[in-house]
Order: sequence, then C-alpha cells, then structure tokens
Amino acid sequence: MGDVMPELPEVETVKNTLKRQILGKKIISVDVLYNIIDKPDVNQFRKLVKNQTIMDIKRRGKFLMFELNDYYLLSHLRMEGKYFIDGDITKHDHVIFHFDNGILKYNDTRKFGRMYLIKKDRVYDERPLCCLGLEPWDDNLNCIYLKDKLKNKKLPIKTILLDQSIIVGIGNIYADEILFKSRINPLKKGNELNKKELDNIIKYTKEILEEAIKEGGTTIKSYESSRGVHGKFQNNLLVHNHENDKCKVCKSIIKKIKVNGRGTYFCPSCQK
Ligand SMILES: [Zn+2]
Repeated sequence: MGDVMPELPEVETVKNTLKRQILGKKIISVDVLYNIIDKPDVNQFRKLVKNQTIMDIKRRGKFLMFELNDYYLLSHLRMEGKYFIDGDITKHDHVIFHFDNGILKYNDTRKFGRMYLIKKDRVYDERPLCCLGLEPWDDNLNCIYLKDKLKNKKLPIKTILLDQSIIVGIGNIYADEILFKSRINPLKKGNELNKKELDNIIKYTKEILEEAIKEGGTTIKSYESSRGVHGKFQNNLLVHNHENDKCKVCKSIIKKIKVNGRGTYFCPSCQK
C-alpha cells in the first residue's frame, strides 16, 4: 500500500504492546549507533538513562512517552520507526537499550524518528510537547474550541486537520477518512465550515481513530513476537488510496488531488 506512516492508532498500538513487554525493566546501558537523539546531547542521554526503570508508557499525540524514574523518554516514529524486543542487531537498528533482562531496539530505515529525554516536571512545558493541541478524546474538544481555532484560517480544512497544534494525532490518511465521513470537501476553507460540519469533524475524528485503535490492537497480536512491534492497521479505508475506485456510498469515482503537497483522496459527489 505504499508509504504507511504510523499515525495515532498505530502509535497507541505500539504503546500498548510495549507496555505488556517492557514495563518494570531497568536500563543498564544504551548504545546509540546512529544519532537520532534531539536533546540532550548524546553523551548526556547515555549517562542519564542509565539505571532508570521503565515505570509506564503513555502517548501524547504521535509521541510515545516512556516514563522513567526521573525523566520522560519521548520517541516519535515519524515515517518508519519500529521497536523490537529481540533478535540480532541489524543495519537499521539505531538505538539499543540493554535491560538487566533483555533488550529493546529502535529500528528506522529512514532515520527520521527522534528521541528526547526531558525532566519529568518539565515535559509538558518544553518542546516538543508544549505546543500540541487537544487529544481527540479531550472533553474540551468541542464545536466552540474548533470554531475559535478556525475563525481566521483560510487554509483548506485538509491542511488544518494535519496541524498538530489544533487536534493531535490526525495524519494524512485519517484526515481523508474523517472528511469523507463528514461529507466535507478537503479544499473547503477552515473559516467557512458551519456548526454541523465542525460537529461532524469532531464526531468522526473520535469514531475513526477509536475504530483504528481497536483493529490495530487485534492485527498486531498475530506478529508481534516474530516481527517486532509495528502497528499497521490501515485496511478499512473508504477513500484513502482508492483513486479511481467507486465510492462506497454513491458509486462516483474517487479522485486524488494534492492539497498543500499531500496526496488527498475524496468523493466529488459526497464531498461537494
Ligand atoms: Zn460518494
């Protein structure tokens, strides 16, 4: 299916899988074979994670948050990041955590992923988490919030949905699906959406991401032990990657356009 980038549901799945596998493990040492550490510098990073225990794993937007004793280790998978808990060290394994019992490898063929180590009490005040918008399930995500955020935005709604400072975790694929279900043309300007359309965006953002998390969780079970941890639910898509297929609602032909450089799929009849 071409480039499949981990989006929020995949990151949630990776989080849940890792939680079952590495919670309570103590980091004895870490090898950074290719430097993807954003901050602090790599020597500090090595020193500070030593002897820290993985207390919990959380998620904020598309960031994995490994809660250690004194720090949060944040990890963004970007295009191709994956975690493995066993196997030999291979070419694309960039960061290896050694536990008193076992290892955790971060593998990334494209090398776009990044890690950050931040003092616990500072984690929400500093880059990268400081500027994130609301989680899809946050009670504050309502029509009033969205209307206010969009009131001066003349950008296409497709582009706005990808803006992580408004709602976190919507990537290119799910943005197309959300707009299809909401019956909104991806090129419609943010400030031109009415209440009904804003309500639909909120409703379907939750619904689609919830469904994807559920399915991602079931898909991953079958191969987590042999192939590592890599959430990859993206099979139930209605428009994304369906160029020239018939719309499942109205039988019109699905079109593909570029919106701000991103491949965008929509039904010209359902999404006028
Ligand atoms: Zn249609």
